[in-house]
Amino acid sequence: KWEEILYTVKLEHELTDVSFDTWLKPLKVHSFEKNGSANTLYILIPAEQQPAFGYIKKKYALPLRVAIAEITGLDCSLEFILPEEAQKLEAKKATVTSNLNECIEKANLNPKYTFDTFVVGSNNNFAHAASLAVAESPGEMYNPLFIYGGVGLGKTHLMHSIAHFILERNPETKVLYVTSESFTNELIEAIRNNNNTATARFREKYRNIDVLLIDDIQFIIGKESTQEEFFHTFNDLHSNKKQIIISSDKPPKEMQTLEGRLRSRFEWGLIADISSPDYETRMAILRKKEELDGYQVNDEVIKYIATNIKSNIRELEGALNKLMACSRLEKKEITIEMAEQELRDIISPDEKREVTPELIINTVAEHFGIRPEDIKGKKRNSEIVFPRQIAMYLCREIIGIPLKSIGTIMGKKDHTTVIHACNTIVADMEKSESTRNTVEIIKKKITPN
Ligand code: ADP
Ligand code: MG
Repeated sequence: KWEEILYTVKLEHELTDVSFDTWLKPLKVHSFEKNGSANTLYILIPAEQQPAFGYIKKKYALPLRVAIAEITGLDCSLEFILPEEAQKLEAKKATVTSNLNECIEKANLNPKYTFDTFVVGSNNNFAHAASLAVAESPGEMYNPLFIYGGVGLGKTHLMHSIAHFILERNPETKVLYVTSESFTNELIEAIRNNNNTATARFREKYRNIDVLLIDDIQFIIGKESTQEEFFHTFNDLHSNKKQIIISSDKPPKEMQTLEGRLRSRFEWGLIADISSPDYETRMAILRKKEELDGYQVNDEVIKYIATNIKSNIRELEGALNKLMACSRLEKKEITIEMAEQELRDIISPDEKREVTPELIINTVAEHFGIRPEDIKGKKRNSEIVFPRQIAMYLCREIIGIPLKSIGTIMGKKDHTTVIHACNTIVADMEKSESTRNTVEIIKKKITPN
C-alpha cells in the first residue's frame, strides 16, 4: 500500500522521476499509532536525507496525507522522523509495553481475557454494556458492579476485560483482581501471624486500590471473619469512590447465608446477569476461538459442537481445543466422525455430571491454572506437586477409589506415593486453615450444592 500511496502523490502532483526518486522513494513507514480516534503515522527519513528533512516535510506532508486518506480511508497526522528519533521512539514504546505488561501481571490478569476477545450475545449483552460503562468511568456510575451467572459463562473473562481496559488507558491506576479464595487465604495468613503489622499490611494493601475486582464471592459466605473484613474493605473503598466489581454464581438476594449488611451493599450499584448462550452466540464464540487460534474447522463440525454443548462456554471451548489438539497430533483434518468419536464423553445424552477422576483432575488443574497433564505428569516443582496431592486426596475422599487405581490414573504412580499424598494433605489441612479453605472451595467446584 505504501508504494501505491507514493505513486498516487507522484501522479497527482505530476512529479518527475528524479524528484520522485530523490524525495519520496526513500521514505519508509516506521510505525502506526492509534490513540483513541487519533491516528499517527510515523515516516522514517533515511539519514542521508537529513539535510532535506525540512523541505520534505513542508512540501510533501499534505499531499501524502491526502493520498493516505484516499487509499486507506484513514485520516492520519504524519510525523517525520530520522533514524535517531526512531530508535528513541522504539525504546519508549518498549518501556510503555513492558510497563503495561508489568501492571497486567501485578493486577493478576490473564492477557487473553479482554473485551476484544469477548463475544457479545443476547445472553450477556447487558453485563457486557455494564462492564464497558464501568471500565470507561470507574468509580463514577455503577458501584459496585455485581455480575452473576453459572459456571463457565464468562464472568471472569468480563472482569479481566474491565481491568485491562482501565490499565490500558491509564497504567497508573491501581487495579487488583483477586479470587475470594485468595482474599480469604491472605487474611487467614495475616491473622495467623498474629501480629498487628501483618494485619495492617493486609488492610493497607486492600484499601490502597483504585479498582478492586473480587471473583466468586460465593466462596466467602459463611466465613465470618472474612465477611467482616470484606465489609470494612468494601466501605472504605466505596466511600472513597473506588470502583468495586464482584462476581458470584447467584444474585445477592439468593445468597442465603450472606450477611444482610453485605447483601444490601451489593445491591447499591448495578446487578447484571449472564445466562447460557443461545445457538448464534455459541457459533460466534466458536468462530472467534477458531480465528484467535488461527485454525480452520469446517462448518459441519462447528455446528455439531454448537448444537450439542449448550450450557457452558468453557466446555464449548474445551471441545474445540480437544479436536484441534487431536488433529495436530494425528496430522488429520477435523471431521465430523472425529468430532463424534472424541467428544462422546463431553456430549453425553442426559448431561448428568458424575464425579469421575477426570473431573477431579480437570477441576483441580483449572483451579490452580495448570494443565491436567501436569497433574498426571512427573514434574516435581511445588506448583505442581501440591495440586497433584490434592487431586489424589480428593479422588480418595470424594469417590473413594482404591489407592492403586488412583496411582494408575495419576500417571502410573506407586500406591505409596498416593498414601503419602493423602497423608500430607490431611496433615496440612489440620495445620493450615488456608489449605482447608482451598480444599473446601475445590470440593464445592466439583460438587456444587
Ligand atoms: P466463569 O468465570 O463465568 O466461570 P469464564 O470467564 O472463566 O467463566 O469463562 C470460561 C471460558 O469461556 C473462558 O475461556 C472464556 O474466555 C470463555 N468465554 C466465556 N464467555 C465468552 C464470550 N462471551 N466470548 C468469548 N469467550 C468467552
Ligand atoms: Mg470465574
